[in-house]
Amino acid sequence: MSARLNLVILGKQGAGKGTQCARLATIYSIPHVSTGDILRAAVKSDSPLGREVSSVMDAGALVSDDLVIKLVEARFLEPDAARGALLDGFPRTIAQAEALERLLGDDGVKLCVNLEVPIELVTQRLSTRRVCQECGSIYSETDISVISGTCEKCGGDVIQRADDKPEAIRKRLETYERDTAPLLEFYAARGLLVSVDGNQTPDEVTAAIKAVVHERGLA
Ligand code: ADP
Ligand code: ZN
Repeated sequence: MSARLNLVILGKQGAGKGTQCARLATIYSIPHVSTGDILRAAVKSDSPLGREVSSVMDAGALVSDDLVIKLVEARFLEPDAARGALLDGFPRTIAQAEALERLLGDDGVKLCVNLEVPIELVTQRLSTRRVCQECGSIYSETDISVISGTCEKCGGDVIQRADDKPEAIRKRLETYERDTAPLLEFYAARGLLVSVDGNQTPDEVTAAIKAVVHERGLA
């Protein structure tokens, strides 16, 4: 068994990747690497990179492969990634998946989990989702933090992501079908793909993923 636990979590926008990755990161003591979070942090800090990607992200389109690959490469060099990583939102094109194979070398992706959720459900989840601008906590329309507009954890503003507006949601889901769904075939061909029903409680989904990781002798 190799020391590095590299897990790719695939699924449509709103499938619950972020929620599951945060839990699994704690369980396996490996970092949660979300390219969406990295890009949003760049936008928030108003860095040159952030200014470059901001309008692309708001429209629900993909940032260029080259740029995202460079960000992930830099992230892998940080010490906490020496034990592996939970990849959330990367790869999302075949070119990115090929780049990931090069970046990881022999010690490659150990498993790709596809969180399966019907399109109607993710559309509903995304349109009712609200996020804290400061700490990134996710809320739904009826939560007290949304009603008050203030995050109960950190006091930050709770807002709707620009890309959670209906037009951008439609665009993101189309982009998923066109650019990201082909990755299922890519990982299936390598014997690495496992599908998990994402239409269960968060605890049930976590348990299902842990069971697969265990069955495969990965942790
Ligand atoms: P979601 O998966 O719900 O769209 P993310 O937080 O993963 O949310 O990504 C938000 C946006 O960041 C994407 O719509 C895209 O513009 C950009 N992005 C994130 N990851 C990538 C990636 N691997 N390649 C290209 N663009 C990306
Ligand atoms: Zn907060």
